[in-house]
Amino acid sequence: MDTGSDVTDLLARLVRCASVTPVSDGALDVVESALVPLGFACERLTFSGGGSYPVENLFATREGSRPGPHLLFAGHTDVVPPGDEGAWTHPPFAAAIADGRMFGRGTVDMKSGIAAFCTALARLVAEGQLDRGRVSLAITNDEEADAVNGTARLMEWAKAQGHRFDFAVVGEPSSRESVGDSIKIGRRGSFTGRVIVEGIQGHVAYPERAANPLPVLAAIATALDAPLDTGSAHFPPSNLEIVSIDVGNPVSNVIPARGTLVFNVRFNDRWTGETLAEEIERRLASVPQGRCRSRFEIAGAVSRCFLCPAEDAAPLLAAITAETGHMPELSTGGGTSDARFIAPYCPVSELGLRGEGMHQVDESVPLADLERLTRLYARVIDHILAGGRP
Ligand SMILES: [Zn+2]
Repeated sequence: MDTGSDVTDLLARLVRCASVTPVSDGALDVVESALVPLGFACERLTFSGGGSYPVENLFATREGSRPGPHLLFAGHTDVVPPGDEGAWTHPPFAAAIADGRMFGRGTVDMKSGIAAFCTALARLVAEGQLDRGRVSLAITNDEEADAVNGTARLMEWAKAQGHRFDFAVVGEPSSRESVGDSIKIGRRGSFTGRVIVEGIQGHVAYPERAANPLPVLAAIATALDAPLDTGSAHFPPSNLEIVSIDVGNPVSNVIPARGTLVFNVRFNDRWTGETLAEEIERRLASVPQGRCRSRFEIAGAVSRCFLCPAEDAAPLLAAITAETGHMPELSTGGGTSDARFIAPYCPVSELGLRGEGMHQVDESVPLADLERLTRLYARVIDHILAGGRP
């Protein structure tokens, strides 16, 4: 079916691949087939290990004839499962068009971002405009699930290949009311912590022979609950939320031997995982513990806070303003994305569609928004490769 538009056709081909994580179902073949005719060198990389399933990824790169910045576009072809297919008005992998929208799983999150970026590149090549600097694409088929063998591994690999990026755009939905009115320039960091208090078990009638961890846990909870900061220029105040205090005691005549307090902390750019762990240790040390002993540990991985420096985002902001007529809102809200794996390598921002309908039944994109995003990406690519000069 020819839908009559370059970007709509490409999106339809992507949506017809049932690429539920980690099965790519030909989606990366579609991306590669769009990029090879434009002069991109494409590598398919399957990473495995790390306690997760193997994942197929695509890295594509193209150098212009004149020197200039290296722009990276990152995205994912995988989608969340459609759920009850009978609940969809149009089948989730049919790319049906109705009422000026294309319906299908991934139309918003985020096959439209990939289709729009590839089409923007094709239009620039056709106009002879893609002659400066270098453009690369890092596309994974594992963002929605484990995200172990996807973008994180792809970035390590690209670095080992000698690639150094000047700026990265992640094509996740970022807009609010209209395409380009908001971009995401960072994220809070997070980790889960555990405080274990060791006491001495005993009979409640003989407390002098025991050491009850519960009053200590209560005092620790109070100490940890105090404010961490008052926020920063682009972030709300950091927050430590206690989610559990547990001694596993089923009876009322025993003083429990130990207890565990669990918390999750979301922190802004005033902290790192290390400085925050030091602060937590300091607060623990301020609590009198009697004959109890406490220790603190981080459970699982620390997700670091990142923020795109204003001067690095300037060419992106100028391009968006030139295209939409408005300076975008700079946001650091929302859930986690693969931008966290890119931030250690180069400044990164997320620019994409409005997020409405993502992960829902009848996920769909207005075709007018798809075209707007394509034009916006073309302007962004052109502007960034020109080094921010209009
Ligand atoms: Zn996504």
